[in-house]
Amino acid sequence: MPLLIQNGRVIDPASNTDAVADVLIADGRIATVGPGLSPAGAEVFDAGGMIVAPGFIDMHVHLREPGFEHAETIESGSRAAAAGGFTSICCMPNTKPVNDSVTVTSYIVDRARSKAVVNVFPIGAITKGSAGEEIAAIGGMKAAGAVAISDDGQPVMNARVMRRAMEFARSYDLPVIQHCEDLTLSAGGDMHEGAQSVRWGLRGIPAASEDVMVARDLVLAHLTGARYHVAHISTANSVAMVAYARRQGLPVTCEATPHHFSLTDEDMRAYDSNYKMKPPLRSSPHREAVLYALARGTVTAIATDHAPHAGSDKMQEFERCPFGVIGLETALGLALEHLYAPGLVTLPRLVELFTTGPESVMRLGRGTLAPGAPGDVTIFSTDVDWTYDVNNSPSRSRNSPFHNRSFRGGPMATVVAGEICWKR
Ligand SMILES: [Zn+2]
Repeated sequence: MPLLIQNGRVIDPASNTDAVADVLIADGRIATVGPGLSPAGAEVFDAGGMIVAPGFIDMHVHLREPGFEHAETIESGSRAAAAGGFTSICCMPNTKPVNDSVTVTSYIVDRARSKAVVNVFPIGAITKGSAGEEIAAIGGMKAAGAVAISDDGQPVMNARVMRRAMEFARSYDLPVIQHCEDLTLSAGGDMHEGAQSVRWGLRGIPAASEDVMVARDLVLAHLTGARYHVAHISTANSVAMVAYARRQGLPVTCEATPHHFSLTDEDMRAYDSNYKMKPPLRSSPHREAVLYALARGTVTAIATDHAPHAGSDKMQEFERCPFGVIGLETALGLALEHLYAPGLVTLPRLVELFTTGPESVMRLGRGTLAPGAPGDVTIFSTDVDWTYDVNNSPSRSRNSPFHNRSFRGGPMATVVAGEICWKR
């Protein structure tokens, strides 16, 4: 049955649309966008007072399948994505086995087809086993459906290997996504190196560990011409260097996570592992640099780095806990609160950060409501009041620093290929 989304404020940055209109989806694709549509026999969703946007894309999630299904599966992660307003997610390769081969890429594509409620796009590893030594089967993975390469979780430490990876990526026209962390500077660290880590007696991860890797990679991106993307950017210097590279015209992009633009190390609850992630929550000047980079356009996309860990893993002493927090369901609420409400970005710019921005890096053929495009739509409100209860999350994990937090504004309904797969 066709789906008619009525009376919403349609914001589609890709086609420069910002107007009250109806959106008609038929046969899984956008059919028409315009005022006063009344086709016979369509299911109707009244979006009066709401924003109707192209389906949101999260270019950085961890789905934990295969290998760690107790923490998340492709199905549970996709349901959490739908509840966060995301219609497409790209999953990082640090599964078990690592997605460094056609076999694993194909497995993920098949599982997603039968189990996922949103579109799932695998990201292949840069190196075999993400061990940082031998280049993975990039061409084969691309043919099987991989949309980018990354060793996320692990940085590619060896500059020669990274150079080679960028050359391959360039010839396959894939973006290289780097988790920027010089391990020789960060090893043993548990949180941002600064006054707070000293106070708590925890070992620090200096901002320089990110900066050094971003600097090296930008030199290599210049050398190779590869499309290069910095994952979860978190420091003032990294932001400045990416801005510089972009001004030089290099095909360089970066993403920021909701936790990095909404929290600092001073917001952490002492020794609470739900605040432990990589890169760590930084100090206030770094957070502000990321916020302004989002506003100015240096940051191309908001990505969650949704990183589920099972309760038993996160219930250890702080130093022993794994890094990472879940984030799919709280991303839009945090973006509205920290970017839109204070006037740092307009609503069209906010929508860009979730749609055309990540689309420009990943090239999924999505992120627009143009007729003929996939019928993926995110419907959200800027004034709905709601509270996040992580215990109701469709995710299999509970490691969120935003449990019990109240939000103004958030997703209202998520439509994938013309079907409502979640609504508030
Ligand atoms: Zn990472």
